[in-house]
Amino acid sequence: MCGIFGYMGSSNAPDIIHQGLKRLEYRGYDSWGISTIENGKIKTTKDVGHLPEKSPIESKSVSTGVGHTRWATHGGVTITNAHPHYSTDNSFVIAQNGIVENYTELKKSLENLGYVFKTQVDTEVIVKLVEHERKSSKTLRDALVKAFKQLDGRNTVIVLDSKQDQILAIRNGSPLILGTKEKDVYLASDPLAFNQYSQNIVEINNGELIEIKDNKYKIYDIYSEKYINRKPREEKQLDIEINKGDYDHYMIKEIVEQKGTILKSTNYSQKELKPLVDRLKKSKSIYTIGAGTAGYSADQIAYYLRKIANLNAISIKSYETESYLNLIDKNDTVIAVSQSGETADTLEAIEILKKQGVYISSIINMPGSTLSRLSDSFFMSNAGSEICVASTKVFTSQISFGYLLSKTVIGKYKEAKKEIYLLSTNLEDFFNNKTFKQIEKITKVLKDKEHFFILGKGQNFHIAQEGALKIKEISYKHFEGFAAGELKHGVIALIEKGTPVISIISNDSNVRDLISATQEVKARGAITIGIGDKQDENCFDYFITVADSNELKSISNVIPFQLISYYLAKELGNNIDKPRNLAKSVTVK
Ligand code: GLU
Repeated sequence: MCGIFGYMGSSNAPDIIHQGLKRLEYRGYDSWGISTIENGKIKTTKDVGHLPEKSPIESKSVSTGVGHTRWATHGGVTITNAHPHYSTDNSFVIAQNGIVENYTELKKSLENLGYVFKTQVDTEVIVKLVEHERKSSKTLRDALVKAFKQLDGRNTVIVLDSKQDQILAIRNGSPLILGTKEKDVYLASDPLAFNQYSQNIVEINNGELIEIKDNKYKIYDIYSEKYINRKPREEKQLDIEINKGDYDHYMIKEIVEQKGTILKSTNYSQKELKPLVDRLKKSKSIYTIGAGTAGYSADQIAYYLRKIANLNAISIKSYETESYLNLIDKNDTVIAVSQSGETADTLEAIEILKKQGVYISSIINMPGSTLSRLSDSFFMSNAGSEICVASTKVFTSQISFGYLLSKTVIGKYKEAKKEIYLLSTNLEDFFNNKTFKQIEKITKVLKDKEHFFILGKGQNFHIAQEGALKIKEISYKHFEGFAAGELKHGVIALIEKGTPVISIISNDSNVRDLISATQEVKARGAITIGIGDKQDENCFDYFITVADSNELKSISNVIPFQLISYYLAKELGNNIDKPRNLAKSVTVK
């Protein structure tokens, strides 16, 4: 996860780095650190928790530095473990994004050589390894390459070197992108971090080293050691609206935006969809892949491809692809779903499948991501920047796209567009004070409970799972979403007087089953909450009627869960946009 930033240029480095890290904070906010070169020495400011609003460093005449926002993998959240990490002689510092998977072995052998470790973080192994290699290398750059080649795992590192007044970085797996503008050079985990200053970007591939010196950059392949002449390409100014408007939190702003984003994500012509549609029709099987909320999008897209397009679509969690690998071949198509396009689990699965010659298409929200570059084709979900760590509008954007795709396969593109438009209009009416007040009232009943169950079936099965995930992420309460059919096979044992159970009810072929399941939990004392199409049954203590739709009820139904999540977290006083322990872009395994 972690965000990395580097800068050498004509402006005040601490300010630029602070601004860059602010934009990278979605990647982790356990701690932060900024190191700059001042009068030939490295000066570092670090702290745990969120970055301060204003730059914590005063200096006006500093032109070079690096910064880091951390999502801890190894070692507690402490100032000592915060990056960047100093070499023993204080001449260089290193910040890392990733996990050194052979950290224990490397640490042991370095300790046997007499190196003493001061932190618990795996990054210190890299620092000591570079120091060790430096003894037998001509330059720090050579030592870094030698050390880097010994690391297992997906790692990207950035080094600030006061002796040579340079920044070095190597990418392998975790993202890294370079930006230039006249005398300024930027390095960051994503282009949003410097997009306000520079739109000239240089993509960095795995196994490449960057050397920034005298305000110029050079790229080398770490294996062939050859210089790579790669000129910047111009990227358009990215759509990053970093303000909450009239809303208290990004989350609620992004929830309400869904009435528009489902239109934007499906703003593709039949011609644009045709190559993928033709390919899907010819494919033996289609595998959708994702993790977390994108994993539930992948589940729902596979559901649409089966149910609407009659295709053999199977959804796999990206971290569980292993047992499927020998089944997937050139005759299949893989659709990878990711918000960031940098999800480590998904990238790893896709890299393997690509080597097997499988066609990869992906659905991504962040422009310029690694996943888009690995894919044979990709579609942007165009939901705009999603700042709240818990995903809302990107989820519904991606499943709307999956719906459009499935309908296009059966020649019903226009019908799908109409349906999406209808839902968008109905959502416009749904987002009103009455709805917000009703949900706020229900969350007051829920706030003192600890365990909750959500029942769904058919088109609402994965919505029950995503709904539970959303609420867990922000409220830290134990919500469990599962197929209603599973209830009697064990879960019902947990229902007692006062346990809240939420049933997702659409007027479809499953409505009776859901009503029966609700009656069964009610008979055991559960507080029953219904979400879905209006019901006459009186088995509900509370009922939230959703925005009307014909085939996109899963989208209508997930929105009340997003709102419950929001109001519950608000009621509990939690940090809504930056929930504990999470990061938006999951770039470590
Ligand atoms: N392993 C490093 C740490 O724990 C970096 C973590 C990351 O990239 O998320 O600080």
